[in-house]
Amino acid sequence: MTKMEFKAESKRLLEMMINSIYSQKEIFLRELISNASDAIDKIYYKALTDDSLTFNKDDYFIKVEADKANRLLKITDTGIGMTKEELENNLGTIAKSGSLSFKKETKMEDGQEIIGQFGVGFYSAFMVADVVTVLTRALGSTEAYKWESQGADGYTIEPCDKETVGTEIILKIKENTEDETYDDYLEDYRLKQIIKKYSDFIRYPIKMDITES
Ligand code: ADP
Ligand code: MG
Repeated sequence: MTKMEFKAESKRLLEMMINSIYSQKEIFLRELISNASDAIDKIYYKALTDDSLTFNKDDYFIKVEADKANRLLKITDTGIGMTKEELENNLGTIAKSGSLSFKKETKMEDGQEIIGQFGVGFYSAFMVADVVTVLTRALGSTEAYKWESQGADGYTIEPCDKETVGTEIILKIKENTEDETYDDYLEDYRLKQIIKKYSDFIRYPIKMDITES
Protein backbone atom coordinates (compact mmCIF):
# COMPACT_ATOMS: atom_id res chain seq x y z
CA MET A 1 0.00 0.00 0.00
CA THR A 2 1.53 3.29 -1.06
CA LYS A 3 1.42 6.43 0.99
CA MET A 4 -0.12 9.36 -0.85
CA GLU A 5 1.04 12.92 -0.31
CA PHE A 6 -1.29 15.72 0.67
CA LYS A 7 -1.47 18.68 -1.71
CA ALA A 8 0.77 21.56 -0.62
CA GLU A 9 -1.91 23.84 0.85
CA SER A 10 -3.56 20.94 2.61
CA LYS A 11 -0.29 19.99 4.17
CA ARG A 12 0.19 23.49 5.54
CA LEU A 13 -3.29 23.56 7.03
CA LEU A 14 -2.79 20.10 8.43
CA GLU A 15 0.50 21.01 10.06
CA MET A 16 -1.18 24.00 11.59
CA MET A 17 -3.94 21.81 12.99
CA ILE A 18 -1.53 19.24 14.40
CA ASN A 19 0.57 21.84 16.15
CA SER A 20 -2.38 23.99 17.06
CA ILE A 21 -2.31 25.90 20.29
CA TYR A 22 -5.81 27.06 19.52
CA SER A 23 -7.86 26.94 22.70
CA GLN A 24 -11.14 25.87 21.17
CA LYS A 25 -10.10 22.48 19.88
CA GLU A 26 -13.64 21.31 20.67
CA ILE A 27 -14.83 22.73 17.35
CA PHE A 28 -13.53 19.59 15.59
CA LEU A 29 -16.78 17.89 16.59
CA ARG A 30 -18.88 20.67 15.06
CA GLU A 31 -16.96 20.23 11.80
CA LEU A 32 -17.36 16.44 11.69
CA ILE A 33 -21.05 16.57 12.60
CA SER A 34 -21.64 19.26 10.01
CA ASN A 35 -20.00 17.06 7.36
CA ALA A 36 -22.15 14.13 8.46
CA SER A 37 -25.26 16.27 8.20
CA ASP A 38 -24.21 17.53 4.75
CA ALA A 39 -23.74 13.92 3.64
CA ILE A 40 -27.30 13.03 4.74
CA ASP A 41 -28.62 16.19 3.07
CA LYS A 42 -27.10 14.96 -0.18
CA ILE A 43 -29.21 11.79 -0.03
CA TYR A 44 -32.24 13.84 0.95
CA TYR A 45 -31.90 16.16 -2.06
CA LYS A 46 -31.10 13.29 -4.40
CA ALA A 47 -34.28 11.51 -3.30
CA LEU A 48 -36.36 14.56 -4.26
CA THR A 49 -35.54 14.08 -7.93
CA ASP A 50 -34.67 10.39 -8.07
CA ASP A 51 -37.74 8.14 -8.06
CA SER A 52 -35.72 5.04 -7.31
CA LEU A 53 -34.68 6.57 -4.01
CA THR A 54 -36.94 7.14 -1.03
CA PHE A 55 -35.86 9.15 1.97
CA ASN A 56 -37.20 7.44 5.07
CA LYS A 57 -36.40 9.88 7.86
CA ASP A 58 -35.87 7.15 10.47
CA ASP A 59 -32.97 5.67 8.53
CA TYR A 60 -30.86 8.81 8.74
CA PHE A 61 -28.88 9.76 11.80
CA ILE A 62 -25.48 10.70 13.16
CA LYS A 63 -23.90 8.72 15.96
CA VAL A 64 -21.13 9.74 18.34
CA GLU A 65 -19.46 6.87 20.19
CA ALA A 66 -16.56 6.98 22.62
CA ASP A 67 -14.44 4.03 23.61
CA LYS A 68 -12.47 5.32 26.57
CA ALA A 69 -10.26 2.30 27.11
CA ASN A 70 -8.95 2.50 23.56
CA ARG A 71 -9.14 6.32 23.34
CA LEU A 72 -11.32 6.11 20.23
CA LEU A 73 -14.03 8.55 19.25
CA LYS A 74 -16.22 7.50 16.36
CA ILE A 75 -18.59 9.69 14.37
CA THR A 76 -20.87 7.67 12.13
CA ASP A 77 -23.37 8.86 9.55
CA THR A 78 -25.82 7.21 7.19
CA GLY A 79 -25.11 9.82 4.54
CA ILE A 80 -24.11 9.51 0.90
CA GLY A 81 -20.58 8.23 1.57
CA MET A 82 -17.59 8.62 -0.72
CA THR A 83 -16.19 6.67 -3.64
CA LYS A 84 -12.45 6.01 -3.77
CA GLU A 85 -12.00 9.00 -6.07
CA GLU A 86 -14.04 11.24 -3.78
CA LEU A 87 -11.98 10.16 -0.79
CA GLU A 88 -8.86 11.16 -2.62
CA ASN A 89 -10.21 14.45 -3.93
CA ASN A 90 -12.10 15.54 -0.83
CA LEU A 91 -9.77 14.50 1.95
CA GLY A 92 -6.43 14.68 0.16
CA THR A 93 -6.84 18.26 -0.88
CA ILE A 94 -8.59 21.40 0.25
CA ALA A 95 -11.25 22.29 -2.24
CA LYS A 96 -14.41 23.33 -0.50
CA SER A 97 -16.14 26.31 1.10
CA GLY A 98 -14.54 26.89 4.48
CA SER A 99 -11.21 25.73 3.30
CA LEU A 100 -11.37 27.83 0.17
CA SER A 101 -11.65 31.00 2.20
CA PHE A 102 -8.75 29.70 4.18
CA LYS A 103 -6.64 29.31 1.08
CA LYS A 104 -7.28 32.92 0.13
CA GLU A 105 -6.25 34.09 3.57
CA THR A 106 -2.70 35.38 3.43
CA LYS A 107 -1.91 35.73 7.11
CA MET A 108 -1.06 32.08 7.49
CA GLU A 109 0.95 32.60 10.69
CA ASP A 110 -2.01 33.63 12.76
CA GLY A 111 -3.65 30.24 13.10
CA GLN A 112 -5.83 31.33 15.99
CA GLU A 113 -7.54 33.98 13.91
CA ILE A 114 -8.01 31.78 10.88
CA ILE A 115 -9.54 28.91 12.81
CA GLY A 116 -11.93 31.26 14.55
CA GLN A 117 -12.96 33.00 11.38
CA PHE A 118 -13.61 30.09 9.04
CA GLY A 119 -14.77 26.56 9.41
CA VAL A 120 -11.59 24.64 8.89
CA GLY A 121 -13.42 21.43 8.17
CA PHE A 122 -12.30 17.85 8.29
CA TYR A 123 -8.65 18.51 9.13
CA SER A 124 -9.63 20.04 12.46
CA ALA A 125 -9.83 16.41 13.64
CA PHE A 126 -6.04 16.50 13.81
CA MET A 127 -6.22 19.04 16.63
CA VAL A 128 -7.39 16.26 18.96
CA ALA A 129 -6.37 13.03 17.24
CA ASP A 130 -3.05 11.58 16.15
CA VAL A 131 -4.61 9.06 13.83
CA VAL A 132 -7.73 9.66 11.75
CA THR A 133 -9.43 6.75 10.00
CA VAL A 134 -12.34 7.09 7.59
CA LEU A 135 -14.42 4.08 6.53
CA THR A 136 -16.87 4.90 3.80
CA ARG A 137 -19.20 3.36 1.28
CA ALA A 138 -20.85 5.50 -1.38
CA LEU A 139 -24.55 5.31 -2.22
CA GLY A 140 -24.99 2.89 -5.12
CA SER A 141 -21.65 1.21 -4.58
CA THR A 142 -20.85 -2.23 -3.21
CA GLU A 143 -17.26 -1.26 -2.50
CA ALA A 144 -16.03 0.38 0.68
CA TYR A 145 -12.73 2.11 1.38
CA LYS A 146 -10.60 2.98 4.32
CA TRP A 147 -8.65 6.26 4.37
CA GLU A 148 -6.12 6.69 7.12
CA SER A 149 -3.66 9.35 8.12
CA GLN A 150 -1.34 10.03 11.01
CA GLY A 151 -0.83 13.60 9.92
CA ALA A 152 1.12 15.68 7.49
CA ASP A 153 3.28 12.93 6.04
CA GLY A 154 0.42 11.54 4.00
CA TYR A 155 -2.47 9.12 3.88
CA THR A 156 -3.34 5.65 2.67
CA ILE A 157 -6.46 4.31 0.96
CA GLU A 158 -7.36 0.63 0.82
CA PRO A 159 -10.49 -1.46 0.27
CA CYS A 160 -12.35 -2.50 3.41
CA ASP A 161 -15.59 -4.13 4.52
CA LYS A 162 -18.59 -1.98 5.33
CA GLU A 163 -22.11 -3.34 5.33
CA THR A 164 -23.98 -0.07 5.03
CA VAL A 165 -23.81 3.10 2.97
CA GLY A 166 -22.33 6.05 4.82
CA THR A 167 -19.21 7.10 6.64
CA GLU A 168 -17.45 6.34 9.89
CA ILE A 169 -14.76 8.68 11.14
CA ILE A 170 -12.59 7.18 13.87
CA LEU A 171 -10.31 9.43 15.89
CA LYS A 172 -7.50 8.08 18.02
CA ILE A 173 -7.62 10.77 20.69
CA LYS A 174 -4.25 12.25 21.68
CA GLU A 175 -2.71 11.49 25.05
CA ASN A 176 -2.85 14.32 27.57
CA THR A 177 0.18 16.57 27.70
CA GLU A 178 1.35 18.89 30.46
CA ASP A 179 -0.61 21.80 29.08
CA GLU A 180 -3.47 20.08 27.34
CA THR A 181 -6.16 17.59 28.36
CA TYR A 182 -7.71 15.47 25.64
CA ASP A 183 -9.48 12.95 27.90
CA ASP A 184 -12.51 15.21 27.91
CA TYR A 185 -13.28 14.30 24.32
CA LEU A 186 -14.09 10.78 25.47
CA GLU A 187 -16.46 11.91 28.22
CA ASP A 188 -20.17 11.69 27.79
CA TYR A 189 -21.02 14.97 29.55
CA ARG A 190 -18.37 16.90 27.66
CA LEU A 191 -19.36 15.54 24.25
CA LYS A 192 -23.00 16.36 24.99
CA GLN A 193 -21.99 19.86 26.01
CA ILE A 194 -20.05 20.43 22.78
CA ILE A 195 -22.90 19.04 20.67
CA LYS A 196 -25.41 21.26 22.46
CA LYS A 197 -23.20 24.30 22.00
CA TYR A 198 -22.44 23.96 18.29
CA SER A 199 -24.73 21.39 16.72
CA ASP A 200 -28.10 22.01 18.30
CA PHE A 201 -29.61 23.07 14.97
CA ILE A 202 -28.63 19.90 13.09
CA ARG A 203 -31.71 18.44 11.38
CA TYR A 204 -30.91 14.79 11.99
CA PRO A 205 -30.82 12.92 15.29
CA ILE A 206 -27.42 12.78 16.97
CA LYS A 207 -27.22 9.55 18.96
CA MET A 208 -24.63 8.87 21.62
CA ASP A 209 -23.06 5.72 22.96
CA ILE A 210 -20.28 5.72 25.52
CA THR A 211 -18.35 2.60 26.54
CA GLU A 212 -16.59 2.92 29.88
CA SER A 213 -14.08 0.13 29.40
P1 ADP B 1 -16.44 21.41 3.54
O1 ADP B 1 -17.40 20.73 4.48
O2 ADP B 1 -16.39 22.89 3.76
O3 ADP B 1 -16.66 21.03 2.11
P2 ADP B 1 -14.52 19.73 4.85
O4 ADP B 1 -13.04 19.83 5.00
O5 ADP B 1 -15.30 19.76 6.10
O6 ADP B 1 -14.96 20.90 3.90
O7 ADP B 1 -14.87 18.42 4.06
C1 ADP B 1 -14.30 18.19 2.79
C2 ADP B 1 -15.14 17.31 1.93
O8 ADP B 1 -15.01 15.95 2.33
C3 ADP B 1 -16.62 17.58 1.99
O9 ADP B 1 -17.00 18.62 1.10
C4 ADP B 1 -17.20 16.23 1.54
O10 ADP B 1 -17.19 16.12 0.13
C5 ADP B 1 -16.20 15.24 2.10
N1 ADP B 1 -16.67 14.68 3.37
C6 ADP B 1 -16.21 14.97 4.61
N2 ADP B 1 -16.88 14.28 5.55
C7 ADP B 1 -17.80 13.52 4.90
C8 ADP B 1 -18.81 12.58 5.32
N3 ADP B 1 -19.02 12.30 6.60
N4 ADP B 1 -19.56 11.99 4.35
C9 ADP B 1 -19.35 12.26 3.05
N5 ADP B 1 -18.43 13.14 2.60
C10 ADP B 1 -17.65 13.77 3.50
MG1 MG C 1 -17.25 20.65 6.49
